[in-house]
Amino acid sequence: MSTAPKAIAGARERYEPVIGLEVHAQLKTASKIFCCCSTRFGAPPNTQVCPVCLGLPGVLPVLNERAVRDAVMVGLAVGSKIALRSVFARKNYFYPDLPKGYQISQYDRPLCEGGSIDIRSGEGWKRIGLVRIHLEEDAGKSLHPEGRAGIHTTRVDLNRAGVPLIEIVSEPDIRSGEEATDYMARLRQILVYLDVCDGNMEEGSLRCDANVSVRPKGSTSFGTKTEIKNLNSFRFVDRAIAYEIERQIGLIESGGRVVQETLLWNSEQGVAESMRSKEEAHDYRYFPEPDLLPLDLDPAWIESVRASLPELPHALRERLVREHGIPEYDAEVLIETRSLASYYEDVAARSGQPKLASNWIMTEVNAIRNRDGLSIERFPIQADRLGALVGMIGAGSISGKIGKQVFEHMLTDPAAPDEIVKRHGLLPIDDEASLLELADEIVAANPGPAAEFRAGKEKTFGFFVGQAMKRSGGRAHPEKLQAALRAALAKQA
Ligand code: ADP
Ligand code: MG
Ligand code: ZN
Repeated sequence: MSTAPKAIAGARERYEPVIGLEVHAQLKTASKIFCCCSTRFGAPPNTQVCPVCLGLPGVLPVLNERAVRDAVMVGLAVGSKIALRSVFARKNYFYPDLPKGYQISQYDRPLCEGGSIDIRSGEGWKRIGLVRIHLEEDAGKSLHPEGRAGIHTTRVDLNRAGVPLIEIVSEPDIRSGEEATDYMARLRQILVYLDVCDGNMEEGSLRCDANVSVRPKGSTSFGTKTEIKNLNSFRFVDRAIAYEIERQIGLIESGGRVVQETLLWNSEQGVAESMRSKEEAHDYRYFPEPDLLPLDLDPAWIESVRASLPELPHALRERLVREHGIPEYDAEVLIETRSLASYYEDVAARSGQPKLASNWIMTEVNAIRNRDGLSIERFPIQADRLGALVGMIGAGSISGKIGKQVFEHMLTDPAAPDEIVKRHGLLPIDDEASLLELADEIVAANPGPAAEFRAGKEKTFGFFVGQAMKRSGGRAHPEKLQAALRAALAKQA
């Protein structure tokens, strides 16, 4: 384990970090990229393999059209140029989980070039350029189960070998760990909206290599970069990049030099450990894959894929702002998933209260969802029922405070909100007689404050309002209650 030299105090401001991400996303195809084996996650080891993905001699790969379509969808969604001809290449290296001794990838002629993803940076938006998106196959997985007497063994599971991946390579436009995680989150959101990747980072469906360098502020050339491999959570992306920036600045400030190397993030110790230096870097000896023809796409087919694109997050956000008049911040929260956004649209339509609907979802609904770890699909109050509740609040037939009580009941009671209001005696008290009765009772029970009020201490009035509200369980109509209290105080004088 190596410890990072702490960046010398104040030095941080003199440097600018430069970050480029290489993200691998597993496509949601049913079968692998070059054979018919299932891609299902979690099956017993080596039960989803065949001669092609085991790398046995004498077999030929056959390209999965669905994987190509998914990759093209992503390229179109982020504004890449789709190559009419791209070429598969062999990337040669030796590793136990790579049975063929090479990975089929794309090298000098990738499927997609260019494009961009807009991220949040401070108060505004910032465009992160993309270098390329290419198709490739995943490798297997090495497992290290503890054998007898605590001895670690190595086993290889090839279920993942041949699962289709896209690699999305960004330009070095990112400037902090925060920007990097926002980029990851937005890329993930696009992939999930397109329904081409499940976005599950724990299961490795989305993983990220971070390239990091630093340079003196104002410098136009880049410093030497290091690459941190296989970051599989947003937190690790953020922490590993922050660590590496600090380490590189500390190194330079103490007279050292950054060496180009590949690092592995040790999440338990919070340090990046050297995996290999530039001298040990692989020479992948790329060459065109002789078993696959170049991939030629028909422009009309590309256009048909474009026509099938769903509404994307940024377009949906802008539409929510435009059509419902809600703030951009609200729209950003509501587009978390497409289903949350359509839940919102249903509640807004049903209640006729777009902003109030947004408030209720962002606070009450999301609080319960976070507490219980629920997707909106599994949230117990359906959009029509929440819409009815928000409508009642918006129309003033119940207060927001009573609304919260009704909401609590609705979490476990499938009845309509007006039914719950009746059943639990939550109807507002707004008839004058009842309010006067309540006011008389409160004034009579508090002779001290009543005397103070009559002696001119106006502030005491708030005390009476509070007491009466409490007694009514929050159901008293606020303005009418005040009138009743003033009448009661005057009467008993
Ligand atoms: P390599 O050949 O080492 O893989 P590439 O030029 O293909 O390097 O870039 C890989 C990734 O590293 C890209 O995301 C790119 O934006 C990023 N990158 C390139 N140079 C730098 C740098 N000096 N600092 C940080 N990131 C960089
Ligand atoms: Mg690289
Ligand atoms: Zn197979």
